[in-house]
Amino acid sequence: MPNARILLVMAMEREAAAVRTKLGISHQSVPLHRALPPRFFSRPPTTTTPALGLVINGIDERSGLDAIATQPAVISTLLATEVFRPTLVVSAGTAGGFAERGGAVGDVFISADVVSYHDRRIGIPGWDAYGIGSYPVAEVDVNPSDVGARWGRVTTGNSLDAPPVDLATMAELGTDAKEMEAAAVAGVAAQLGVPFLAVKGITDLVDAPEGTAAQFERNLAHTADRVADVVAKLLPTLSQSS
Ligand code: SAH
Repeated sequence: MPNARILLVMAMEREAAAVRTKLGISHQSVPLHRALPPRFFSRPPTTTTPALGLVINGIDERSGLDAIATQPAVISTLLATEVFRPTLVVSAGTAGGFAERGGAVGDVFISADVVSYHDRRIGIPGWDAYGIGSYPVAEVDVNPSDVGARWGRVTTGNSLDAPPVDLATMAELGTDAKEMEAAAVAGVAAQLGVPFLAVKGITDLVDAPEGTAAQFERNLAHTADRVADVVAKLLPTLSQSS
């Protein structure tokens, strides 16, 4: 579509820096809300490239830390969608992977099928499915290996760790990328009728002996670069399919 408008939604500044530099998304707008922290950047369209928006959750005022997990992701997605009017919303960032399902640090997954929650347990018929969410992802006409990526199931929860009860749900869902925002972004996009996709790079392996936080810190810069590469290579395809 010539008038594609692609909105990237990202959690941490350290995840987003490479995307901003690589894609030249340099214009920062005025705050999207007087009291809320998301930061919004954009790049106008050219004759060959779509308009790009990038919203970063910003700093949580109480802790002074990057605002992560589902609640900030909802605020960012809603505010940025209202000003930018995207034709496609992309939740981009990092995630935990699973060696037992063939994942490795530095892999980048493009979401396949649906994105789900792996920690919203509501054991009442009907509400159980509501909890899991399972929001559809846009169909993208690409061979992922052509853009340095793989198809994968992306699932979301509000914890960095993975207790047995969540691991069991993730095994059932076939999670390839475990992170903290995608299903929340997808839920907002679905309600607004905007197609959605996730692109997630693996910073840490959930089933490795080393702790998640240490792996995450060591691999964040490298994996953030890989995510930026994949997003840049995907853009022509995404502009066609949105
Ligand atoms: N100590 C870090 C915390 C990052 S939390 C800090 O400097 O603030 C991890 C972020 O990366 C989340 O936004 C999440 O979406 C993603 N992520 C990476 N690995 C993850 C994992 N194993 N589980 C859940 N989220 C993960």
